[in-house]
Amino acid sequence: MQAALDQVRRRLDVACQRVGRSPHEVTLVAVTKTHPPRLARAAVAAGVVDLGENRVQELTAKIGHVPGARWHLIGPLQRNKVRDLIGREVLVHTVDRASLVDALDRRAAAVGAVQRVLIQVNVGRDPAKAGCDLTELDALVSYAAARGNLALEGLMTMPPLPPPGVDPATAAQPHFAALRAARDRLVPAYPQLTTLSMGMSADLEAAVAEGATMVRIGTALFGPRGDGPWRAEEAR
Ligand SMILES: *Cc1c(COP(=O)(O)O)cnc(C)c1O
Repeated sequence: MQAALDQVRRRLDVACQRVGRSPHEVTLVAVTKTHPPRLARAAVAAGVVDLGENRVQELTAKIGHVPGARWHLIGPLQRNKVRDLIGREVLVHTVDRASLVDALDRRAAAVGAVQRVLIQVNVGRDPAKAGCDLTELDALVSYAAARGNLALEGLMTMPPLPPPGVDPATAAQPHFAALRAARDRLVPAYPQLTTLSMGMSADLEAAVAEGATMVRIGTALFGPRGDGPWRAEEAR
């Protein structure tokens, strides 16, 4: 893991240097989905304390096994799982509709918590991806920003899979640029929109060039994923 981490850090450094940014502006979120807590602990020991999971159940199963981590939910959130998340200080990257805003705000209010969220935008209008449409973003930002128990901190996107033969970073860059443009347009009215969560193993350079402040990296750190979620009953 250390060699892979060094390589990812080097890629981030080079990408930042190319556009005159400081690597300190970009938080590396290590995506630990499907991997056992042992690997997550190795990431924390190596100094990567921000960890991302795409399922609530897998995330809550791992939390207790990985001391010192800061958790991120980067996959879809169903309303019936909101209760399991609130109060655990997880940054939710995937809020994409008003009903989910309501569910998070209500549950956070009930336990006296403030839930930190990003709004996920389906910039590429990819039917296979979650996220609100760019045309719905302003209304959703305004709605979420007005909720007393939510802290809206920014935007997240996942670009469509690139067409065969097309370099993933090249294909992703216009989507990242569009998310950044949306943020820049909204920031005078909503200065709290400081986070841009975008960029994965194959396209982190393009994301950094377009202003990413969080990149979500799985494969480049941990290699190929297992074929299902890690479960607590398995050996650790
Ligand atoms: C799995 C996942 C990632 C990590 O992707 P890699 O290509 O393995 O780096 C990033 N973001 C989201 C939302 C994911 O589900």
